[in-house]
Amino acid sequence: MQHSRSARALAFARARRAAQDWSDPYRPQGKLYPAVCKQCGATEWQGRWRWDEPLPDLPRVVCPACERIRDGAPAHVVELTGELPPWWNEVRGILGRVESGEVLEHPLERIMKVEVGDDRVRVATTGVHIARRLTAALIRRFRHQLRLSFAADRTTVEWVEPRVRRG
Ligand SMILES: [Zn+2]
Repeated sequence: MQHSRSARALAFARARRAAQDWSDPYRPQGKLYPAVCKQCGATEWQGRWRWDEPLPDLPRVVCPACERIRDGAPAHVVELTGELPPWWNEVRGILGRVESGEVLEHPLERIMKVEVGDDRVRVATTGVHIARRLTAALIRRFRHQLRLSFAADRTTVEWVEPRVRRG
């Protein structure tokens, strides 16, 4: 069944709110000491992770994103399915662009794995915010070619039209 436009907007708004309220179990609260991730080099200061030049002698830890990658435990999965193949190269470009923009500002928001299966591509992320941004970028580009469904740990994006209507 095709979602109506307003139902989709509502579902997207609900997913956005859920992302805002999300608290990462990989990110213990109240650990406010400065530290540097020994895997990726991101630094933490007062609970915020950045790509600052680390000071010498910072405690070496593993950041939540690298922990998730190590454990194979995504925060969210965006599943791309349906009539995706004709668009896959372009979609792959969008994923790359969104990630490089996002990770620069937010070191914990990364794509951890892109798994290309027979009938779907699974994009596993280390945070929910990048998953939401990926979905938003796909909606902006493909609009009504997409059918969406949102769950707490998964967003499914299905291409329902094989061709773009022009004009
Ligand atoms: Zn790290």
